[in-house]
Amino acid sequence: MTHKKILITGGAGFVGSHLCERLLNEGNEVYCLDNFFTGQKQNIVHLLDNPYFELIRHDVTAPYFIEADEIYNLACPASPIHYQHNPIKTVKTSVMGSINMLGLAKRINAKILQASTSEVYGDPQVHPQQESYWGHVNPIGERSCYDEGKRCAETLFIDYHKQNKVKIKIIRIFNTYGPRMHPNDGRVVSNFIVQALQNQDITIYGEGQQTRSFQYVDDLVEGMIKMMASPDQFIGPVNMGNPNEFTILELAEKVIKLTGSKSKLIFKPLPSDDPMMRQPDISLAKKELNWAPKIQLEEGLTKTIEFFKSVI
Ligand code: NAD
Ligand code: UDP
Repeated sequence: MTHKKILITGGAGFVGSHLCERLLNEGNEVYCLDNFFTGQKQNIVHLLDNPYFELIRHDVTAPYFIEADEIYNLACPASPIHYQHNPIKTVKTSVMGSINMLGLAKRINAKILQASTSEVYGDPQVHPQQESYWGHVNPIGERSCYDEGKRCAETLFIDYHKQNKVKIKIIRIFNTYGPRMHPNDGRVVSNFIVQALQNQDITIYGEGQQTRSFQYVDDLVEGMIKMMASPDQFIGPVNMGNPNEFTILELAEKVIKLTGSKSKLIFKPLPSDDPMMRQPDISLAKKELNWAPKIQLEEGLTKTIEFFKSVI
């Protein structure tokens, strides 16, 4: 097995902590860089004793230099309440963070993967979403700091590749859930499980007819590693998500069933620009990476519910 030096920005977050763990288990040296805006030490505390793991407190909006073979660029708050808390900072994190990490990759000749998002498709008018779809994004709405920041990051990745021959990879991640989601991040899976476990009302925004396709975190991590290992000419963007699509009402019903909760459903206003539907077309990932998610919603929810039982 080749032992690599791998930098993961946003490594103390939900997805990043699983990626750190997996890459360490595969015998690599992992540098986890995070400013702890939404990430937590608790997510990676079990890795701190490993001599091949290093924790770096740093903000990606400032340059950082280190020797590495690969960079996974995950630094960016991902839940709507977190990225809307300081929207200017969210744009800076995606744009300046990408410039700094691409500059580093260029200087040290590292391969770099960008954690982009299904939000680049906005409130899509094409369903399911293929990578060739340009999206339907409001540039001045509540979600714009995240959506447009991530879109600009994709532009930067492509242009560093064209202009400076940087080895890049872009993945577009669809809604992902699992252990170590922040209990207060406001995302639908964590909200519903926390509410159900406490027999509190389950908050459905709008009528709950909007859809999402939920991917378990282990499937995503597998896809990220496969993408990084794929031939240099395959740069993406490539969708990563579970194509099984559910309405938000169906999700609420599943969570109530799996937790045995007495919670009731209540209906709250739908936030502005909330996409009505979202489902990845993953034929490209299947063809190029031989990747498809394996863990379906009930199995993933069961594992996630066990995690939340231990933290609340
Ligand atoms: P998260 O909020 O748990 O993790 C993000 C991490 O980035 C946190 O540890 C945070 O402290 C760190 N961070 C934020 N700003 C930073 C900065 N300026 N400098 C250094 N570190 C910074 O979110 P997540 O769900 O783990 O998402 C990880 C990545 O995947 C994000 O880039 C996100 O946009 C992308 N993504 C996630 C999902 C999902 O459903 N989880 C979907 C699409 C895309
Ligand atoms: N949502 C909901 N109740 C909640 C939290 C979210 O009905 O307590 C809805 C939200 O309006 C959206 C969907 O669930 O339609 C997914 O929301 P999330 O914030 O998890 O992700 P995103 O909208 O970014 O896909």
